[in-house]
Amino acid sequence: MAQIRIANLRKDFGAFNAVKSSTFTVEDGEFFMLLGPSGCGKTTTLRMMAGLELPTSGEVYIDGQEVGQKPASQRDIAFVFQMFALYPHMNVRKNISYPLVSQGMKRAQVAAKVHEIAEILGITALLDNSVGGLSGGDRQRVALARAIVREPKAFLMDEPLGALDAEFRERMSEELRALHDRMGATTVYVTHDQLEAMQMGDKIVVMNHGSVEQFGVPQDIYDWPATKFVAEFIGSPPMNFLDFNGGIGAGADTVVLDGITMQVPQSRDGLSGALTFGVRPEHVRLDDSAPYRGRVRATEYLGTTQIVTFDTANGQIKARLASGDHVSVGDTIGLAFDPRTVTIFNGTTGKALRSAANEGVLAHG
Ligand code: ATP
Repeated sequence: MAQIRIANLRKDFGAFNAVKSSTFTVEDGEFFMLLGPSGCGKTTTLRMMAGLELPTSGEVYIDGQEVGQKPASQRDIAFVFQMFALYPHMNVRKNISYPLVSQGMKRAQVAAKVHEIAEILGITALLDNSVGGLSGGDRQRVALARAIVREPKAFLMDEPLGALDAEFRERMSEELRALHDRMGATTVYVTHDQLEAMQMGDKIVVMNHGSVEQFGVPQDIYDWPATKFVAEFIGSPPMNFLDFNGGIGAGADTVVLDGITMQVPQSRDGLSGALTFGVRPEHVRLDDSAPYRGRVRATEYLGTTQIVTFDTANGQIKARLASGDHVSVGDTIGLAFDPRTVTIFNGTTGKALRSAANEGVLAHG
C-alpha cells in the first residue's frame, strides 16, 4: 500500500516537452485514472512514477520518500502493460510463481501464495495449462496474478484492456475493479477512454498536451469541468458550447445570449468580451414559453432517450430528451437550460469562470 505524489514533474525528449509541470497525489488505496487523448503524456507520466523514465525535473514521492531518480527495481511497484509478456515456455503456475521464486521464497510458501492468488482471479483450473493455449482474457488474468503475487506497494497499468474487444473489455474492467476493492492496493491506470475512467476511477486526472487540466472525483469533473477541453473530452455527447460576447460581472447571475437574458450560477469572476455558455445535453429542456429558440437539425433515436441537434443563434447544441418528446426536423422550439448546471468559460483561454456552483471543485482541482 502506498501514497504516490508527483510534484512539478516534467519530461523533455530533446527539445520536445512531453510532460509539463504536473502535480497531483494518488492516495493510499485509490483506483486512480490518468485520462487524456493519444500523445498527451499519460504513459510518460506513468513511466516516471514507475522509474522506467527519469524526470527532467520535479519529484516523485512514494510514501513521502523522494524516488524520482531511483530505478524501477528500488520502488516496489508493479507495472502492467497492455501487451502481456508471459513466459511461453512455462505453464501458468510457473509464470505466476516466477517473481516469488526469483526472490528466493520457500517452495511451500510459493505454492500457498500462488494458490491464493489463482483462487482470487478464478484461474485455479488453469494452473497446469501451458500459456500458449489461453484465451486473451485468461492471459490477462495470469499476467495480473503474476503482478499481484509479490504484493507490490502499488500497481501501474498502461491501457491494460486496450487490446480486448468491447464486451470482454467491460467484463475485465469490472473484474479489475472488484479485485482492487478486495485487495485495496493503490492503482494508477492509464486510459484514453473517458467512460472507462468515469466507471472505474475513484479519482481522475485529465491531461492534455502534457499538462494536467483537472484532477478530482469523476462526478465533480463531469459536473464542473475546469476547462472547455475537459467539458468536451468527458461526456457523450459532450457539453454544449454557446459562444457569446458581452461578458459577465463579478456577482452577476445572468448573461445575455442573442438579446435574451439567461439565468446562471452567481459568478465569482467578472470578465468582459468573449465568453462561452456551457450546458450538458441532459440539462436542456423543451419549453414552449422559453424565449431562446432552436431549430431542429437532426434527431438520433437511442431507445429510452433521443439526441436532438438544434441550430441556435449562438451555435449548434444537442439535447438529450425522452424518446416520447415529439420533435421534427425543421421545427423551431423554445429551449430552457437548468441554470444551476451552467458553466461559463472564458472564450479566449477556455478556462471555467468561478461561480457559486463550481468554486469548491475548482479550488481543489
Ligand atoms: P498514447 O495513448 O498514444 O500512448 P500518451 O498520452 O500515453 O499517448 P506518451 O506516450 O506519454 O503519450 O507520449 C507523449 C509525447 O511524448 C508523444 O508526443 C510522444 O511521441 C512523445 N514521446 C514519448 N516517448 C518518447 C521518446 N522516448 N522519445 C521521444 N518522444 C517521445
